[in-house]
Amino acid sequence: MREDLLNEVFRDLQQQQLLNEETENSRRREIRSAYPGIASLMDRRESLISGTVQGILRGEAAPEDLPARMEQVSAEIRKALKENGYPEDYLAPVYTCPLCRDTGFVGDSIRERCACVNRRYQEKLRRAIGLPENGRETFECFDETLFSPDRLEGSQFSQREMMVRIRDFCERWADQYPAQQPRDLVLSGQSGLGKTFLLHAMAARLIERGHQVLLISAYRFLETARRSYFEADGQLEDLIASPVLMLDDLGSEPMMQNITIEQLFNLINERQRRNLATVISTNLNLAELRNRYTERIASRISDRQQCEFLQLRGRDLRNGRA
Ligand SMILES: [Zn+2]
Repeated sequence: MREDLLNEVFRDLQQQQLLNEETENSRRREIRSAYPGIASLMDRRESLISGTVQGILRGEAAPEDLPARMEQVSAEIRKALKENGYPEDYLAPVYTCPLCRDTGFVGDSIRERCACVNRRYQEKLRRAIGLPENGRETFECFDETLFSPDRLEGSQFSQREMMVRIRDFCERWADQYPAQQPRDLVLSGQSGLGKTFLLHAMAARLIERGHQVLLISAYRFLETARRSYFEADGQLEDLIASPVLMLDDLGSEPMMQNITIEQLFNLINERQRRNLATVISTNLNLAELRNRYTERIASRISDRQQCEFLQLRGRDLRNGRA
């Protein structure tokens, strides 16, 4: 687990406790000022508590019937609230997570992290690596029936069959990482064929397995590279050094002379030199990649020893265009 993100989760929980306390206080003020009858019941309950505390401080035992008397007053308060159109528990403590009462822990003898901590942590992790926070883009959610069962022109397979094979390949790759073969992947095909979905599914599987991934669009990568040229903020090095880097939508970024190709080559070359896995999605085919980024880059991402080039074909899922 990433300690920095886990610490953030517990800071968020503390913040949440403060907000909830404010809510409790403002509800008490509201009821007190509008309903004198309920206010006096609240006073009675508070004096029961403070009387007991003072007694204990004097060395007296708490009265045996205290719980019963407390419950009786509380029941009267709940009844009065309801009669005035409020929820019964309007003055009860406010918890965002009733399981752990916003402490982040459950269990008495064995304290375990609450499910809400894990959920908040996953959300932060997804955001940190570039995945949508509540994304449902996983291999489990992959629906092959969205793809046409008709045979693709010039192929022995339908789009559906082809996508199932590619999906299986990507899933195996993510499951076998870091022993996966080959090291790099390119998903090529026009937009709307499911490339980004597969990238997200791979990233989700990898973080589930505890591996480090970063996902960034080619557009954002170039922004980062360009900025780091002027101010070294370490972000470019984070991308270059990430154990797995997913570069989404290569080919959609603006072509800036002396920058785009240079930075891209630097990224791919440096990662290959360090033997780090890179997954690229692009709307360009190999010939178009060669045209746009020169042979130098194209040969790096089409070397069969190091990189699997997966060509997606068929109809656009979003508008049915061929
Ligand atoms: Zn909780």
